[in-house]
Amino acid sequence: MTSTLRLPDPGPLLDWFAGAARDLPWRTVDPLTGRRDPYRVWISEIMLQQTRAAAVIPYYERFLERYPDLDSLAAAPEDEVLKLWEGLGYYSRARNLLAAARRVAALPADARPRTAASLRGLPGIGPYTAGAIASLSYDEAAPAVDGNVLRVLCRLLDQDWQRGDSAARRHAETLLAAWYAAYPAASPGRLNEALIELGARLCLPRRPFCGDCPFAAACAARRSGRAPGLPLPPARRPRPLELMAPLFLLHGGALLCLRRPPAGLLGGLWQVPFVDGLLHPGRRAAIEAALEPHCADARFIWQPLGSHRHVFSHLEWELGAESLTISGSSASPDPAVLTASLEAFLSTQSPPPDTALWLTAAERHELAFPAALHGFLARL
Ligand code: SF4
Repeated sequence: MTSTLRLPDPGPLLDWFAGAARDLPWRTVDPLTGRRDPYRVWISEIMLQQTRAAAVIPYYERFLERYPDLDSLAAAPEDEVLKLWEGLGYYSRARNLLAAARRVAALPADARPRTAASLRGLPGIGPYTAGAIASLSYDEAAPAVDGNVLRVLCRLLDQDWQRGDSAARRHAETLLAAWYAAYPAASPGRLNEALIELGARLCLPRRPFCGDCPFAAACAARRSGRAPGLPLPPARRPRPLELMAPLFLLHGGALLCLRRPPAGLLGGLWQVPFVDGLLHPGRRAAIEAALEPHCADARFIWQPLGSHRHVFSHLEWELGAESLTISGSSASPDPAVLTASLEAFLSTQSPPPDTALWLTAAERHELAFPAALHGFLARL
């Protein structure tokens, strides 16, 4: 399919990029080598996955201030890294970043990965990120095909590619490899970055600005009029909906919190117990009966905290939260025992009881909680 296809002369794109490139903090170039720092490229590319540049900038700057190089990141505690990442979402990115930093920092300087092939073995580094680091930092002729680049290439050649399709990505990588070879005077890193910029600035998903595009004369989808609909949307599967009630158990000003398992959705973040389904008078009474044996002389005070729907890429949560203050009981009930007593009510999204702790507001402030809970926490 790709054998007869050719990408156009990159000259107009590079001229446009020279004048239009945004001044982004991760684009700083070392004045001696003329290259970009691979650590900074790596951090920015991981943060930019699924996230707009404007949203990434403050996170990137805070992160680089705290961890200016690979060794400082490798030495960081996971809770601290997750806290800095709080609100950016897709927390597996932060955990993988830390795991990869620790793995690379343990290697002698001359054995650290510099090529796309060697970078791809690291946690969280897939074909795109490996290609971006190797091409932008070391000018390796390594394709870096993210959603922006796939969209530009798909439209330039007017192909029926689907978004997120791995076969389309491989076609794009083959085309790019041939492009670098056909124009050896052009830097592969510069070509990759210019294509990424074109996809982010002009070749936008629903409304491309073809009139301003340096590739307008060469673009097949512009001629056919199909550009706004390309690439084709992926076949959608309905997202499952989970109905849950976050239960904010309070005692003496502290909140019962649990830590999610290290891997998987929101791995390593903190939350409160999630009751399966929504709360109603019968359910509240049953929960009080389960807690009572562990809270001598306690009174229970319920308070609604509102509702919130949180949409993940593959899942939705409908949350109806309530606080339950345990009052009149002076001794602090064992948080693990208390959580275990609720086991019959808890959702599978509730972490195991042995992770339970009473945390004060100051302690919670140092830890990362899912964005889905931020509004409820603010209302406590
Ligand atoms: S001409 Fe339009 S559709 Fe084609 S690459 Fe440029 S912005 Fe995209």
